[in-house]
Amino acid sequence: MAWSYLQLEKIQNHQNNQRIWRQNQADKVHCPPTAAQLIRKSTYSDRLIIDESITTILPTFIRIGDSYFHEKELHVNTMISTYGLPTLFITLTMAENRWSHLHNILKATDNRDSNPTNRPLHCTLNFIHRLQQLKKHVWKNLEYSEWNKIEQFFERVEFQNRGAAHTHGIYWTSKGIEQMINENLIRSDVPDPITEPELYAKVMANQIHTCSPNKCGGPAAPGHVCKKHFPRQFSPTTYFDYETQRYVYRCVKPEDQWVVPYHVETLMIWDAHINVQYVSSRKLAFYLTKYLAKSEPSHVFNVKEGDKFKEHVVARRLGSMELIFLILGETICDSSCSVMYLPTDLPTSRHKAIRPVSLITEDNDPYWNNHVEKYFSRPDEEEFTNITYPEYFKYYEVTNTRPTVNRPIYTDRLGNYVVKRSSAKLVRFKYLTLQDGQLYFYQKLLLELPCRSEDELLGNFETYREYWLDRHPDLHDAFQQLTQEHLWA
Ligand SMILES: [Zn+2]
Repeated sequence: MAWSYLQLEKIQNHQNNQRIWRQNQADKVHCPPTAAQLIRKSTYSDRLIIDESITTILPTFIRIGDSYFHEKELHVNTMISTYGLPTLFITLTMAENRWSHLHNILKATDNRDSNPTNRPLHCTLNFIHRLQQLKKHVWKNLEYSEWNKIEQFFERVEFQNRGAAHTHGIYWTSKGIEQMINENLIRSDVPDPITEPELYAKVMANQIHTCSPNKCGGPAAPGHVCKKHFPRQFSPTTYFDYETQRYVYRCVKPEDQWVVPYHVETLMIWDAHINVQYVSSRKLAFYLTKYLAKSEPSHVFNVKEGDKFKEHVVARRLGSMELIFLILGETICDSSCSVMYLPTDLPTSRHKAIRPVSLITEDNDPYWNNHVEKYFSRPDEEEFTNITYPEYFKYYEVTNTRPTVNRPIYTDRLGNYVVKRSSAKLVRFKYLTLQDGQLYFYQKLLLELPCRSEDELLGNFETYREYWLDRHPDLHDAFQQLTQEHLWA
């Protein structure tokens, strides 16, 4: 079944393909084939097709050079550089064998088999529904969540070896960590069984760490801690420990030493193991690589660049719940914002996406306009005069169908509609360093200089480097020295 799914995915994506023309990077002259050169008659019918010998296919699920999760990592990095560090890291684990609602659903539906392993569809739907209800009624309800609003978030669903789902998420709450600590929002104590009996039961059932070889390397020797830092150290308060760069949670009784931190309202509703922590930069870096942007072999589609694009699909065994998740089209990664990738390739090495045959005529441009071209052709109104490339796409939306909004609609020189966005979009670029040479300086100029043509990016200089250094005379010496060091290294 898993194999069939991957096959289906492949077919769907290839039906939805677009062709691209790649410039031979050795070409000094920037001169892509014309419409007439691109189109020829099909060998099999009279239909016109795009010449397959000079173009290559680009399946939509492949983004050039970036694997899916590498892209997610860049997404999270862009969010962090825009919004700062998130405040909370939350992991929710599924307890399909103990959830009584799920058990009742299984007993009453289809073949009434109450073993969750045999009923992945119902388990998946229950998990998704439970998560949505938790968010709707607790996390987004200021009264219950106690962290005010969740301003931004990034979440990922992950499937363990045995198939059960987890979610890992980072959240930017409007209440700061200091205030949450003062209000004792994240707790890691065993509650009083007399005054908080329900919470006591939930903590004892879900939040007690027991050391085992595959979870934490097994119990530590007396006086030491296991790989997951249990038993926890005693502390009368929750505080940030600068030495270890970690938060130490309030722990006053011996039994508190084995409690995994929790958020009371979430634990009461979720009724399964959770892990809620304040975010420190060190912990975030750890979780980022370990959970949030970890690539899984089933999702890795690599593109090898040669004469032709060649894709490899590395399949692995999918768990039944994961498979249901994919078939239902549920999102594996979810985020409060989208991040737009803006290319900054040199005009001589840019990919060009070809329009469908039906949109190409003998004398029009057979290629879709790329972001840089759209930026150059932005509307002539005054508010666009001094806007830079990143600002343009951050604050404006460019579409080829007329939007229905109450804001002013502008038209660019290509005939596209341009409207100010209601909220700014996040944008990111290829990461380049001085070692990338002209590419690096071209990108720097493109990002900071309001311009309308490639020529303006060169100014009256021979190279992008010279022009950029001329614009930044204060950095001239430093750059010369860096280049010298690089040459001598
Ligand atoms: Zn342990």
